[in-house]
Amino acid sequence: MKQILWFRRDLRITDSALLCYGKGEVLPIFIFDTNILNKLAKDDKRVTFIYQSVLKLKGQLQNIGLDLAIFHGNPKDIFELLQKKYNFDEVLCSCDFDSYARKRDSEIERIVPMRRFYDSYLIHPNEALKNDGTPYKVFTPFYKSLFYLWKSKKLEQFTLSQEMTQFSYQYERFPTLEDLGFLKQTLPDFLEKDASVLLEEFIPKLENYQEGRDYFSLDATSKLSVHLRFGLISPREIFNRINPIENGVFFIRELFWREFYSYILYHYPQSEFENFNQKKIIWSQNSDHFKAWCEGNTGVPIIDASMRYLNLTGLMSNRLRMIVASYLTKNLFLPWEWGEQYFALKLLDYDASSNIGSWQWGASTGADSVPYFRVFNPYTQSAKFDKDGVFIKSVLKELQEVDSKLLHTENGVQHNILLHYPKVLVDIKQSRQNAINRFKI
Ligand SMILES: Cc1cc2nc3c(=O)[nH]c(=O)nc-3n(C[C@H](O)[C@H](O)[C@H](O)COP(=O)(O)OP(=O)(O)OC[C@H]3O[C@@H](n4cnc5c(N)ncnc54)[C@H](O)[C@@H]3O)c2cc1C
Repeated sequence: MKQILWFRRDLRITDSALLCYGKGEVLPIFIFDTNILNKLAKDDKRVTFIYQSVLKLKGQLQNIGLDLAIFHGNPKDIFELLQKKYNFDEVLCSCDFDSYARKRDSEIERIVPMRRFYDSYLIHPNEALKNDGTPYKVFTPFYKSLFYLWKSKKLEQFTLSQEMTQFSYQYERFPTLEDLGFLKQTLPDFLEKDASVLLEEFIPKLENYQEGRDYFSLDATSKLSVHLRFGLISPREIFNRINPIENGVFFIRELFWREFYSYILYHYPQSEFENFNQKKIIWSQNSDHFKAWCEGNTGVPIIDASMRYLNLTGLMSNRLRMIVASYLTKNLFLPWEWGEQYFALKLLDYDASSNIGSWQWGASTGADSVPYFRVFNPYTQSAKFDKDGVFIKSVLKELQEVDSKLLHTENGVQHNILLHYPKVLVDIKQSRQNAINRFKI
């Protein structure tokens, strides 16, 4: 038996389906896929992070007597070459099902038999169906139907197969980051830490998680989304550590939102491109407004601080994501797809299913999304969650001396013409009402 173990979004050796089902001579591989990389800016932080993570994985595999072959190119060409030369029996990999991944995998499957594992999530989407065999479209019943999971003390994790031997290959030859065409970027400190360290650091914060996560300047969440995205830790491992803790319930529920969005994309792949609820909406196409939103020049301090922070760091807290998504889709009435694609370019933790699901949620077009008449008022939100303007002022240095109350008042900052702060694009009340009227049709 000769197998390829294709690591993709599961860059770990613990609780790994590939390393559990590996058997015979195995060639672990990672491909820096040019179809994806060619669309990214040369200073994309995520590539630095993935590159470092792939090298770490190589070292970890070497420690267990294996290695990692690292390729750069089009996966189809690479598999054709490997098959022509070595004729592998099968390739083991974890599931991935956004539109590009589906197309890519169906091409590879024609070259070499593929065995897929649903390894990046807690359940397989077919494990949670309604009595009539159709998928849930609403989060709470989906979550409740999985009570056997969240009531369980521990989920079974994959163990390391003892039946693998290293396939002979030129493992020492692999591309540098510069060969891939990217520049090494400085990453936020937390990305230099192992996922297990982040998890342990988060445990004492659990008690205050439900409330604290909404306050923009508090460090109250786990910061695990990037590690989860690339599979540096498995969701089962996180679940097993947190579920037994009494005040872990709310956090576990958030992990199930991640499940829910992947479940929705699996069962409704068209939701990547269409309104999930099939609602026909004629969005505005104002590209100047979109540019101002992207650049953080909308004249609304909390929106501008969030967007400029995203552009600088690749990070944004969950509530800020909800606020800027609501502002884009309701106040500016621009298509959620524009925001989704911009986030895809910028977010360090970009994940197709969570991003698409969350954007459709914010636009009131998705599965179990916010009702169209519940539009976030950005000023009320900042007054509540950034009362003293600590977050806003940390990003918008030009507003550092402004009385915090003005940050939470429409046009509050613009009265001071010496501040050179952009004019507002739309009136908040009026644009809210327009959106509601257009949704009602
Ligand atoms: C418009 C919008 C776009 C988003 N895009 C993404 C994305 O591309 N990738 C992504 O991982 N998350 C996305 N989210 C969800 C959420 O904002 C992030 O998962 C969270 O902010 C990551 O920080 P954390 O790891 O500290 O989260 P924590 O609060 O510590 O949560 C732990 C884990 O639970 C999951 N989670 C938490 N909240 C959500 C949620 N609302 N929906 C889905 N999963 C959740 C994440 O995997 C997260 O790492 C988006 C939310 C919105 C509103």
